[in-house]
Amino acid sequence: VGTSDPVKGADRNPNDADELVHRREQHFASVQEHYYRHPPRIERGWQHTMIDVDARCYLDMVNNVTSLGHAHPGVERAAARQLRRLNTNSRFNYGAVVEYSTRLSELLPALLDTVFLVNSGSEAVDLALRIALATTGRPDVLAVAEAYHGWTFASDAVSTSIADNPNALETRPDWVHTVDAPNAYRGRYRGPDVGRYADDAVETIHRLAAEGRPPAAFIAEAYYGNAGGMALPDGYLDKVYAAVREHGGLAIADEVQVGYGRLGEWFWGFEQQGVVPDIVTVAKAIGNGHPLGAVITSREVAERYRNQGYFFSSAGGSPVSSAVGLAVLDALRDEKLQQNARDVGRHLKERLTQLAERHELIGAVHGSGLYLGVELVRDRETREPATRETTAICERMLELGVIIQPTGDRQCVLKTKPPLCLDRESADYFVDALDHVLST
Ligand code: PMP
Repeated sequence: VGTSDPVKGADRNPNDADELVHRREQHFASVQEHYYRHPPRIERGWQHTMIDVDARCYLDMVNNVTSLGHAHPGVERAAARQLRRLNTNSRFNYGAVVEYSTRLSELLPALLDTVFLVNSGSEAVDLALRIALATTGRPDVLAVAEAYHGWTFASDAVSTSIADNPNALETRPDWVHTVDAPNAYRGRYRGPDVGRYADDAVETIHRLAAEGRPPAAFIAEAYYGNAGGMALPDGYLDKVYAAVREHGGLAIADEVQVGYGRLGEWFWGFEQQGVVPDIVTVAKAIGNGHPLGAVITSREVAERYRNQGYFFSSAGGSPVSSAVGLAVLDALRDEKLQQNARDVGRHLKERLTQLAERHELIGAVHGSGLYLGVELVRDRETREPATRETTAICERMLELGVIIQPTGDRQCVLKTKPPLCLDRESADYFVDALDHVLST
């Protein structure tokens, strides 16, 4: 059946093969143009390798922040088995869903024992905020500048980053308050004023309380991904959590990027800082790319929330996603992937740091485990971000078969977050390719 839509301008037959190809290409271009001029058409993958429609292989250093990479046989088996048993949620979930929730809570400190399963990181953050607002009866939330927490209404509202957030709300709602924090590319991290950021946040909390608007929650990534891949300074969370709790608010740790071993330990972010939040959000790695996210709270908070109503998500934490989640947990343990993330991550950081001695464009190498940020600068003194150069470098890395993307509000950090199974040889290939690109 032909259409003669004057806007689309053609008498096109939507079932025609050429028309289908045309539409597919148009769709692909509109989705992908954000990153590359000539994006690869990826069709398959195996661990940290991806293969395009022309059978070209790529080293996947971004990988949607999964843990096991593509096509893990344990994940495939678990999903297929669960599909034969029970497909979808019921209000009387048992089996894989309950087993998974229990094993997830066992990874966390004893106080955090109640798990709500959802489909994604954004949903997890949205629910965490909803829980904080409902249980405290307050409307205000405190977030850190230049953070990304998701695309749903509430997670977007606390996503204070601009460049890394294509979904950004045009106007931030007035219930979101933002505090500044050190970041990689402004070079302020190592400065003498690091402690100031915690003091500023504490002052803001006291001020809001004095104005009769104490925050329901403070939300932060303890390992500040969007700012270039780096930990918040020691003692920061301790001080800010104490202040928010002093006024009856809750501490939310967004572990969507780093929870589960990217930095070599389960919940590196807040564990390294020696603090226990009231609510933790996880996603990404826990489902290895499948729709799975979780909000984990203390029993007390969960009980207060349940008094407000009942949480149910039709697809959230489905039996199939939960079975995948269990397979991921088994694989992390059996294949010692957290140890691998530590070892290969250390090797990669050493090699990148050596590279920085030879290439002025590298301002610094941040981070740890398999979550490193290579900050590219025009001037090492001023740390002026080399934004345009970073995009060009990513394009040239693609020609050498490496997928890596710029990140941060200044888009001048190459953030490496490959699957935790990355081997040394592939890490070396990444460094050699970057060396080549920076040398020519
Ligand atoms: N929180 C953080 C820290 C994230 O990095 C992201 C995704 N980049 C999200 C939340 C949202 O997760 P999702 O894309 O799974 O909705």
